Amino acid sequence: MAIVKCGACGKQKSSKAPACPHCGFNPEGGLEQLEKHQAKKRRDSLHRQNMLQMFAVVILLVGGYMWWHGSGDPQSWQFQLGRFTLVAAILLYAYARGLSLWQKYFNKDK
Ligand SMILES: [Zn+2]
Repeated sequence: MAIVKCGACGKQKSSKAPACPHCGFNPEGGLEQLEKHQAKKRRDSLHRQNMLQMFAVVILLVGGYMWWHGSGDPQSWQFQLGRFTLVAAILLYAYARGLSLWQKYFNKDK
C-alpha cells in the first residue's frame, strides 16, 4: 500500500482505496468521472457563494435594524454597532457578489 496524491483535490490517499476519502473522486472512473467531479465542485462553490450572499443580507437586516433603533443617539452602542454591521455586510455582499460574477464570466467552463 502506498500513499498517493488525489488527482482531483490534491490531498493524500491510499493507493488501495478506489475513491478519494476527501472528495470522493475515483481515478478509475476515467474522464467522465473527473468531469462529474468538477461539475460538483463548481456547484458546491456556487452554493457557498449563495450562502455567503444570504448571510450578508441577514447581517445587513440586523445591522439596519439596530442602526434604525439607535439612530436617535449617535453615541449609543446600537447606532455604532449597527453602522459597523452595515458596512461589514455591504463589504461582505460585494465580495460574495464579485466572486460569483468572476466565476460566471471568467471561469465559465474549465
Ligand atoms: Zn480527492
